[in-house]
Amino acid sequence: MTETKFDEYKDVWVFAEQRDGKLMNVALELLGEGYRLSREIGDGARVAALLLGDRVEHLVEDLYAYGADSVYVASDPLLAQYTNDGYTKVAANAIALFKPEIVLFGATHIGRDLAPRVAARLDTGLTADCTRLDIDTGHYMDYLETYTTASLSGLNRNDGNKSLKQTRPAFGGNLMATIVTPRTRPQMSTVRPGVMEKRERKEGAAGERIDIEVRLDAGDIHVEIVETVKAAKEIVSLTDAKIVCSGGRGLGDASGFQLITRFAEKVGGVVGASRAAVDSGWIDQSHQVGQTGTTVKPQIYFACGIPGAIQHLAGMQTSDIIVAINKDPDAPIFEVADYGIVGDLFKVIPELIAQWDGDAV
Ligand SMILES: Cc1cc2nc3c(=O)[nH]c(=O)nc-3n(C[C@H](O)[C@H](O)[C@H](O)COP(=O)(O)OP(=O)(O)OC[C@H]3O[C@@H](n4cnc5c(N)ncnc54)[C@H](O)[C@@H]3O)c2cc1C
Repeated sequence: MTETKFDEYKDVWVFAEQRDGKLMNVALELLGEGYRLSREIGDGARVAALLLGDRVEHLVEDLYAYGADSVYVASDPLLAQYTNDGYTKVAANAIALFKPEIVLFGATHIGRDLAPRVAARLDTGLTADCTRLDIDTGHYMDYLETYTTASLSGLNRNDGNKSLKQTRPAFGGNLMATIVTPRTRPQMSTVRPGVMEKRERKEGAAGERIDIEVRLDAGDIHVEIVETVKAAKEIVSLTDAKIVCSGGRGLGDASGFQLITRFAEKVGGVVGASRAAVDSGWIDQSHQVGQTGTTVKPQIYFACGIPGAIQHLAGMQTSDIIVAINKDPDAPIFEVADYGIVGDLFKVIPELIAQWDGDAV
């Protein structure tokens, strides 16, 4: 491994994932987070978007509007559709050339496919599926050296590069692990959709556009996309929902979701589920909330007959208001709930449906 010259690396980059010329929401969330991190790093650090595709220049203004100080654009017909080979080559070359200190990808199917390849090309680390990012002021590295067996000798702490603390659930979600990349740059993470806050759109915001020369030919791409088939089933949009009504095994059987669906329709929400309900075959996996499902951050989250296992909490505990309905008064969900209703959900939910005031949200 060649030695990394830390002081050559600057700025926070966000992979601006787009599909069919539309930006993915997670790219905007990451711009918000990248903006926050870059300002925390200081020293003139900026947040930039890396946009790959064909004829996607119309998205540049949107990226400025959501906080990008600059946008690196790689436009080429060979990038019209995502391919691991093509995108890896172009993204890795751009990162190697411009040397950002931090690179963030959404933990989408594409982000999870692309980021590890890029990290391997660049000979650097990658933390997958982060739920929290912070800039270390030096104390965390001191802590690691003092209290763990990590050998960090030889690292120059005064090199002006502050490390990124990348936090993600580990060991089945039973603890949160904070990971640093002390020896190499850039520091790379994938981040779950729905976890970070996007900035408020600022109409007319300006930035700097840098066009990247794409050195790609058809021989670089070893896959041929013959046809793109969109899932025929209805995909629920849990990530963007303002209200989520989730049901767990407390529903008794699959028919219990009829009540949850009625509840969601009444309150204008989307139906969520615990993994146990999904594993029981009561509802499709696309409804699952939690560590191995979708992360949600609605204004109101209703947890109905869900005790609040740590893996479920990992996907919903940053909701603005949590309402728990459970017949067990000792259910751990009540520890994170803003409102707790101890009772039989089959009695409580019909009452809520009857009483719901549509102006409440
Ligand atoms: C690696 C790993 C990843 C995981 N990922 C996820 C994940 O992403 N999402 C997830 O949800 N889980 C996940 N789990 C599973 C998780 O640990 C729990 O097993 C699961 O969330 C429990 O589901 P549940 O709440 O539906 O069921 P149960 O644990 O069976 O709880 C049922 C609850 O319903 C209540 N209840 C029963 N009847 C009624 C009634 N009539 N009225 C009111 N309340 C009632 C009971 O008091 C109880 O609290 C994961 C586990 C592992 C090991």
